[in-house]
Amino acid sequence: MNIYNKVSQVRNQVKEWKRAGLSVGFVPTMGYLHEGHESLIRKAASENDKVVVSIFVNPTQFGPNEDLEKYPRDLKKDSLICAGAGADLIFHPEIEEMYVKDACTSVNMNGLTDGLCGKSRPTHFSGVCTVVTKLFNIVPADKAYFGEKDAQQLAIIKKMVEDLNIDIQIIGCPIIREEDGLAKSSRNIYLSPVEREAALVLNKSLKVARKAIEAGVKNTSDLKGLIVDMIEKEPLAKIDYVEIVDSRSLKEVDFIEENVLVALAVYIGKTRLIDNFTYFI
Ligand code: AMP
Repeated sequence: MNIYNKVSQVRNQVKEWKRAGLSVGFVPTMGYLHEGHESLIRKAASENDKVVVSIFVNPTQFGPNEDLEKYPRDLKKDSLICAGAGADLIFHPEIEEMYVKDACTSVNMNGLTDGLCGKSRPTHFSGVCTVVTKLFNIVPADKAYFGEKDAQQLAIIKKMVEDLNIDIQIIGCPIIREEDGLAKSSRNIYLSPVEREAALVLNKSLKVARKAIEAGVKNTSDLKGLIVDMIEKEPLAKIDYVEIVDSRSLKEVDFIEENVLVALAVYIGKTRLIDNFTYFI
């Protein structure tokens, strides 16, 4: 498995594979890989002849007071995980390789990016759309794999690919969790032992909401109330948002009549964590 840091190296290799008639899967990441990322790479390897993983902590998707500087990095461990999961190539560019000094083009979307994480991270999805478009141009893969953990991101990328006629199939992959239910995340490393325990409230409150829906509660303000009440009982937790939205339009709904995304973002201490589930009618 090669690690390339130049755009031209990756592009040439992928083009060579394509000329040879091989299918290519692509897994974009910010590194500090865990079993969530690994599951995407394994799925890509099971469906394609070759797999490219990008590891790039993209500065344009971080807000001014976010954790860009301290975002965890471990290329050595990441390489072992990639190789073990069946990747053929890691693309690990420097910031200067990805963004020319006078770059002045970005990809922006309306609507889907406004709510949920877009509310408290207003520039985040423009950074995501821009970097993912660039990565898709660098790695002209057949399929790209994204986690349902970042459900809004997945919906946005699917729409962006449709709107901009990008010739890559987007595959969503299920959330991988710790044994106790906490969604795996590179940011879990920030949690102290007590915060780690407190963080369980995200998944626990979602489970309560799912049970309530299954028991017939369809009014979303009642459902959100259940989640909020439970989280507010946890002293280390501070809610960023709790939302129930249509799973495609991401617009808020009053009653559950179509498939919905139940999503939340909660600060545990200083660490902002997200989790969600989709309820299929
Ligand atoms: P990140 O490195 O956080 O940018 O994540 C890279 C990709 O891995 C994104 O598509 C995420 O949705 C996905 N991912 C992160 N955590 C998980 C998880 N626990 N389960 C499934 N996919 C995940």
